[in-house]
Amino acid sequence: MKKYLKALILVIFLTSILYLSGSSKEKELPVFNENTPKYVALTFDDGPHYKYTEMLLDGLKKRNVKVTFFVLGSNASKNYNIIKKAALDGHVIGNHTYSHKNLFRLKEEEILEEIDKTNQIIEAITGTTPKYFRPSYGNYNGKILKLAKMETVLWNVDSLDWKIKNSNQITRRVLNKVSDGSIILMHDIYKSSVKAAFLIIDKLQEEGYEFVTIDELLTSS
Ligand code: ZN
Repeated sequence: MKKYLKALILVIFLTSILYLSGSSKEKELPVFNENTPKYVALTFDDGPHYKYTEMLLDGLKKRNVKVTFFVLGSNASKNYNIIKKAALDGHVIGNHTYSHKNLFRLKEEEILEEIDKTNQIIEAITGTTPKYFRPSYGNYNGKILKLAKMETVLWNVDSLDWKIKNSNQITRRVLNKVSDGSIILMHDIYKSSVKAAFLIIDKLQEEGYEFVTIDELLTSS
């Protein structure tokens, strides 16, 4: 149980919030696949970016790595081909709201619009309804989780790439914090983040880590 403790705590926490918020829907805790020892999930928020996401996809393909993208509906609608390519390459596409507003400040119908509009765009491009939701700024409460009706996934390793913007420093920070079962937060809208992602992947693969999507990390029972 120690292996995936951090991610497990996150899921239990979110699930308990769902219960507390009065959701009548029975929700089972995901069971972690313990067959393979070191699993790590890279997640990229706020894209896709017309240039850097493309660069990222090329590098991921070369390294045979699958990741999870939490895209903004507003960016997805401008970059259909990139989302399509990412989905075809086997990456998971999740919902990160339409315009990255602070959901705490929105009315229920506005929150729903942020989520639904993005799901519709992703579905139109990939043919699949997204399963995973990551609220903008990681801001969520019982109301938001209930409205989303999706699996909400946060992270337990924050690369702070948007702030650091230096590939080597981002890499060092992530390598210091990573452990088995980590969900790493990055942003595919900066060149330094994409370069850092490649450095992180190369190093962790050397150490025997396997990169998986959120789907694979949280194997449903
Ligand atoms: Zn974001």
